[in-house]
Amino acid sequence: MNFHSLLTPTIQASFKQATLQGQPEDRSLFYPNQLASLDADFINKIKEKSKLELALRVMQPFVGDDIPENELLRILDETLCFDIPMKKLSESVSILELFHGPTLAFKDVGARFMSRCIRYFTREENKKVTILVATSGDTGGAVADGFYDVEGVEVIILYPHGKVSPVQEKQLTALGKNIYALEIDGDFDDCQRMVKTAFADTDIQSKKNLCSANSINVARWLPQQLYYFLAYSQWQSETKPVVSVPSGNFGNLCAGMLAAQRGLPTQHFIAACNSNDTIPRYIESQIFSPRPTIATMSNAMDVSLPSNFIRIEAMYDKDLTRLQKDLSACTVSEDDTLAAIIQLYHQNQYIADPHGAVAFHALQSYLQQHPEQSGYFVETAHPVKFPDAISKALSLQIPIPASLEDLMKKEKQSTRMAANDNAFKDYLMSHHT
Ligand SMILES: *Cc1c(COP(=O)(O)O)cnc(C)c1O
Repeated sequence: MNFHSLLTPTIQASFKQATLQGQPEDRSLFYPNQLASLDADFINKIKEKSKLELALRVMQPFVGDDIPENELLRILDETLCFDIPMKKLSESVSILELFHGPTLAFKDVGARFMSRCIRYFTREENKKVTILVATSGDTGGAVADGFYDVEGVEVIILYPHGKVSPVQEKQLTALGKNIYALEIDGDFDDCQRMVKTAFADTDIQSKKNLCSANSINVARWLPQQLYYFLAYSQWQSETKPVVSVPSGNFGNLCAGMLAAQRGLPTQHFIAACNSNDTIPRYIESQIFSPRPTIATMSNAMDVSLPSNFIRIEAMYDKDLTRLQKDLSACTVSEDDTLAAIIQLYHQNQYIADPHGAVAFHALQSYLQQHPEQSGYFVETAHPVKFPDAISKALSLQIPIPASLEDLMKKEKQSTRMAANDNAFKDYLMSHHT
């Protein structure tokens, strides 16, 4: 399977190249040349398949010959080393829990898969690589965990100062060894821009083998399809599910929609957004007009320029009318997010994190308009990572899970930096390991 740049289709790359390079030279995104439809027989038997069988069938077409099957199976087995349970909350609403991985965030699946692919490719070539990652909180932790103490790899994480929670900050800054944290005086979009600019800089490129770990990397984006296949294997209802995905950079949603394009049964998708509503406004008005990023409780979705949306547009040949049949977008205010956390707690004894709560609210609104349907929403993080929102909504504190206790005792190590492309360049040019 080859990939091409969405801007310049003649720029082609194998899975290996696309993974190591992150982004094509034209700074657009890699996109698969074929979507690799799955045959009906496979789809009908999804419920009988093991997790690993399913994962191999879903991922192998994209990886092709770049990783041998036994190695790919090992990578997938390590990637999916935790549960991805679906829980029924009511007749029409279920919840898909994606936070049982080592950093308690859904990004663990993509980060684990990608880090293991990169490890495989660099070991093969005996190369040193520098992973640059901009994070609004959760990505950095998952990527750091995936690459921690891996020889030949250094990870440089950029995160917005004061905008991540205490658990998240420890996950970003306390590992040490080959993991370096830069605390940026700016927001996530600044961090993302700094990373993008570094990738385009030939001086830096000649000094370091840069590799991106954001959800634009195909090795992070594509394995997220697995959630939706695993969700379907647990789906009980006769009707196809409406799927509500809390969306920031739109990688997760885009992976779900890719799964649907390949044949996975779904009724409809909902892009559940917080006040950063570029896409809901675009889908409604057909006018794309990003505004400055707004800080919200669901800070992993504080993104005003979602990178992955162009992949969704590509799936629909930029036909917005056709896209609207499969995708709705919903903007959820801070008040509605709090109300959703409260409702889930009182009606279902469920403690949702603010991202899951946004998705729940969006699903509930949609089902009110479509009462004959049922669906699930995606819970992307453990609520302990967002303690302020939980205590605000429910006046309670969630104990730190045992798996994080050691990490919380470690010391934060970070380098403070202005949101300035040149400052980052200087850092990279003088940074050596
Ligand atoms: C990253 C993240 C999201 C948004 O996912 P995208 O793929 O960027 O849309 C939602 N919730 C949590 C907890 C996250 O960490």
